[in-house]
Amino acid sequence: MRKILLVILFIVLIVALLYKSPFSAMYNYNKAKDLYKLGKYEQSLPYFEKALFASPKDELSRFYYVLALSKTPPTYRIQKRLYEMSESKIQDEASKYAKAQAVSLRFKLTEGINNNYIDNAVSGKDIIRWDLKSFPLKVYIEPTNDIPPFYTKTILKAFAMWQNKTNFISFNQTKNEQEANITVKFKDIPKDICKNSICTYTIANTTPEINNDKILKKMVLTFYKTNPYNKSFTEQEIFNTAIHEIGHTLGIMGHSDNPDDVMFAMKDNTDYRTFKTGVNAISARDIKTLVLLYRIAANITDTNALPAKNSYYAPLILGSNDVRLQKKLQENLNYIKNYPKLASGYINISGVYTEMGDFDNALISLNKAKELSVTQEEQYIIEYNLAITYYNKQDYQKAYETALKARTLKSDENINDLITELEELKK
Ligand SMILES: [Zn+2]
Repeated sequence: MRKILLVILFIVLIVALLYKSPFSAMYNYNKAKDLYKLGKYEQSLPYFEKALFASPKDELSRFYYVLALSKTPPTYRIQKRLYEMSESKIQDEASKYAKAQAVSLRFKLTEGINNNYIDNAVSGKDIIRWDLKSFPLKVYIEPTNDIPPFYTKTILKAFAMWQNKTNFISFNQTKNEQEANITVKFKDIPKDICKNSICTYTIANTTPEINNDKILKKMVLTFYKTNPYNKSFTEQEIFNTAIHEIGHTLGIMGHSDNPDDVMFAMKDNTDYRTFKTGVNAISARDIKTLVLLYRIAANITDTNALPAKNSYYAPLILGSNDVRLQKKLQENLNYIKNYPKLASGYINISGVYTEMGDFDNALISLNKAKELSVTQEEQYIIEYNLAITYYNKQDYQKAYETALKARTLKSDENINDLITELEELKK
């Protein structure tokens, strides 16, 4: 038995040596180059890869590999490899050429839909959307007697508008909440939403339910039944809000920066008195953003399916992390320009600063949010994020004190986990 194991080990060693040897590099490079010369670019790729495995820094193999990639039909895997070469730590002609090719491929893939706000539509680094095979999506509308009948009718009209404006989005109503992809609920407006007789509030909001395996279980769209003055919303308010929120339920997690788009931020988080009176319509830019979103491979979706062969590789389309974060910061700064009195804008900015590793600016934004906060829920979120920020700054004492304060506002799993961890650190 032992002898057999030793023989196996010996064979494995020999094979590994062969693959990693200069002979293997040379053999595979020559084979790849022959195929390349014959115009068999796709077939040459595995040989270039073997050559690079044996000799990763070889300039010629790298260069011809990028050339072969750029001449192969750009499937998801090809896009990914080309992008990886463009971001390679080795700075040579190959990485330079890969960068140029990645840019031109991005233009090619987004031809006809490049007027979009995809950078704002993604949530952090996550592409959240439904699997195209899951359409028509099942919509459950919670039955309730507390609302005027036109609410439900108007919301269904908004769903129908998204369906009619695109050729790939479709919905079916279901009476079974369990099987729903999208659930529409109605909730009483919180009593503590007004401060000094100024009421800032949303008519509705959308929350994704994502489990620990990064599976999108549900999108929950919650409408308030009335405004803070106990009056029903108008049909127009319900319609405009529904059309915007349905965009969120489809996976557009951020906001457009153009007031002509239905996903512009102005149309939610709105003050009742400044609500736009016109009827909102889905713009060409909204559609282009959604089309692109559904071409990019999602990392959070409702199935376990691997990225489709012809889907787009997210980093290739969205660019590097730095560029993405800068755009995100700009989007959030625009938001607080429009809404200088809403705490949520400053909470979001602190999130971007945290992603950038700029904890001092995250603290400044959170303290500003604290001054503006109205509801207890907001205050909890701010204290919780302050505690996390102190934790990131390795100021564990302050993190602990702040976490305890957060728990007096709300005691949930997140804050209790943080407190337990901080207590462990103290020991
Ligand atoms: Zn919104």
